Amino acid sequence: MTPKPAAAAARATVYGYPRQGQDRELKKATEGYWKGRVTADALRATAAELRRATWRRLAEAGVAEVPTGDFSHYDHVLDTTVMVGAIPDRHRAAFAADPLDGYFAMARGTRDVAPLEMTKWFDTNYHYLVPELGPDTVFSPDSAKQVGELAEALALGLTARPVLVGPVTYLLLAKPAPGAPADFEPLALLDRLLPVYAEVLADLRAAGAEWVQLDEPALVQDRTPAELAAAAHAYQRLGALADRPRILVASYFDRLGDALQVLAQAPVDGLAMDFTGPAAANLDALAAVGGLPGRRLVAGVVDGRNIWINDLSKSLTTLGTLLGLADRVDVAASCSLLHVPLDAAAEHDIDPQILRWLAFARQKTTELVTLARGLSLGTDAIAAELAANRADLASRAGSPITRDPAVRARAGAVTEADARRPHPYPERATAQRARLGLPLLPTTTIGSFPQTAELRAARADLRAGRVDPAGYEERVRAEIREVVAFQEQLGIDVLVHGEAERNDMVQYFAEQLTGYLATRHGWVQSYGTRYVRPPILAGDVSRPEPMTTRWTAYAQSLTPRPVKGMLTGPVTMLAWSFVRDDQPLADTARQVALALRDEVADLEAAGTAVIQVDEPALRETLPLRAADRAGYLAWATEAFRLTTGGVRPDTQIHTHMCYAEFGDIVRAIDDLDADVISLEAARSHMQVARELAAHGYPRQAGPGVYDIHSPRVPSAEEAAELLRTGLRAIPAERLWVNPDCGLKTRGWPETRASLENLVRAAHAVRAEL
Ligand code: GLN
Ligand code: ZN
Repeated sequence: MTPKPAAAAARATVYGYPRQGQDRELKKATEGYWKGRVTADALRATAAELRRATWRRLAEAGVAEVPTGDFSHYDHVLDTTVMVGAIPDRHRAAFAADPLDGYFAMARGTRDVAPLEMTKWFDTNYHYLVPELGPDTVFSPDSAKQVGELAEALALGLTARPVLVGPVTYLLLAKPAPGAPADFEPLALLDRLLPVYAEVLADLRAAGAEWVQLDEPALVQDRTPAELAAAAHAYQRLGALADRPRILVASYFDRLGDALQVLAQAPVDGLAMDFTGPAAANLDALAAVGGLPGRRLVAGVVDGRNIWINDLSKSLTTLGTLLGLADRVDVAASCSLLHVPLDAAAEHDIDPQILRWLAFARQKTTELVTLARGLSLGTDAIAAELAANRADLASRAGSPITRDPAVRARAGAVTEADARRPHPYPERATAQRARLGLPLLPTTTIGSFPQTAELRAARADLRAGRVDPAGYEERVRAEIREVVAFQEQLGIDVLVHGEAERNDMVQYFAEQLTGYLATRHGWVQSYGTRYVRPPILAGDVSRPEPMTTRWTAYAQSLTPRPVKGMLTGPVTMLAWSFVRDDQPLADTARQVALALRDEVADLEAAGTAVIQVDEPALRETLPLRAADRAGYLAWATEAFRLTTGGVRPDTQIHTHMCYAEFGDIVRAIDDLDADVISLEAARSHMQVARELAAHGYPRQAGPGVYDIHSPRVPSAEEAAELLRTGLRAIPAERLWVNPDCGLKTRGWPETRASLENLVRAAHAVRAEL
């Protein structure tokens, strides 16, 4: 369909852009500042230059309205905490003395003061710092950062739109401050917070902002009537302000659902909405509420959190429909481009025939500008772009990389029985007991041992050709010998090889599986100055060769005790990658599961009696809307069972997850049909053990008794006390003794001391049985 030209010319815009710079200059400057090698002024100058470079690049590409205020020295939610003056008491003095150091102290803590808690930003892999609010919180406006960055962009002669975390989302993301009643709801502070937003809006107006964007992604989650009423109230009040810029309320990551009615009725000047993935439902919903007559719609039609090129003609069709629903339609990505890497053109190692399928932030910007032109001037004006886009899409769809007949035939032939172990858990448990002969309260670890600087250097040497593969192999074997000897000496019951060969639990496998691509510069911010390079799951997945058996078998050859095989599960392999958007996630998960199933079979054939399949991401990819969760959990648990379902009854399957609250997915965890699960529990005093018991969880579990997130060494008595607590919920026949998670981030001295105490605690508590 050819959309008719829009009355007002459509503009392209974005909500945010990667902050780091082409060579991660921001990371270098920030870490340099922390180490005292870069001055505060130099850091600020680097940041300002990066902002200017981004704006210029956006403007040169044809983006008509650039975002400001989306830049951050660490995190935009922390920036909002500063903007509303909600500095926690324990940070006030430092913040008053030096705002930059105080800011970083809130983010990272100091020797004396704990940082704010960090948690995932919705279902992305970005982490924000959780505001701490209580009944005594007093807000006060500090618009300096927002106003300053707006002024910088205006000084370049650009049209700019400040982007702020909205007041409802800010409060919904907060948690009760230490000392506040546990049932305190930060949303109760809304009436105190709104005047602060009113002042910031007035300041931005005075500084020259025509439009201001308030981001309310929390409204795409299931919200109570009270929360929706609070949102209605907030935008009534902000909308009624006399001295304000025009307000654009943005939502992304999912559909608005009931919140759409609320926002459509609010006296604001425009909405920015997501029309990709599950949020495509916004299209019909918007028509159903009668659209946004007389107002502005910013349409997120380009996926802002994945790296594939857009289907331009499909987007134009969507935009054409939307033209009938609002006064003015502008074109955007579904969310901030913070969640994708900067520039696909920098990937010189990727085959150009594949590179044409990829769009990072820079390429997405071009897509937006093209779409805005097509929407304004008609499809003829972008005929060349549309033809090139069609060719690129056809190249992807027809490529042998995306269609491997053998993989498809195998996945298509999977039956329900393949994803079920034929023997029920109790029978397997008996067979495993006979084979393994473990004591009560068996001890084990989660897999990795400290990744020392020497190990990382050895890997760098291998990459640089300074050491040959055989030399590297011997280096890893030496590490395995040390780790096995250490565990034997300590008297751990089920050993691990230590994962010395793994750079990262997903990347290690992605590098060996067909269908995955690696990037060289595809950095995405995870938190603060930490960036990750997620692999790209681009094609059909298969496993050309065993990936782990030689290390596990080598470790097993050194000891009569069982050595656990270690794999990353299919859901986590998807969750920490960029996934295909040309087939359902369930199909991709099934392919990965079948590849891992081959690895499980090879481990078993090599004599491995215990195999652990880690799924730390099972819960974090849970859909934002409850209505979508059952469907997700069905394919996610099936993929796990497909990975593990082919083994003998006397082969013991472990899984591991690292979160302490999982009441909402305990049924799914049972559905994995693993024999043993290890979980994070030390900091919550074995809360998970009680939750498992409350749900009648019938299998074995290892709630962690050693918090590996800090270098602190737990005493044997402390670990024993946690075990006794665990025993009150889980009987001794089903309780394991292990740390919360892998030890790769720890140093050797504290690892040694902590595991010694862990084994001592197990012995002490066994003697009490
Ligand atoms: N086996 C992995 C390790 O020990 C598990 C890591 C994780 O749960 N994130 O490192
Ligand atoms: Zn873990």
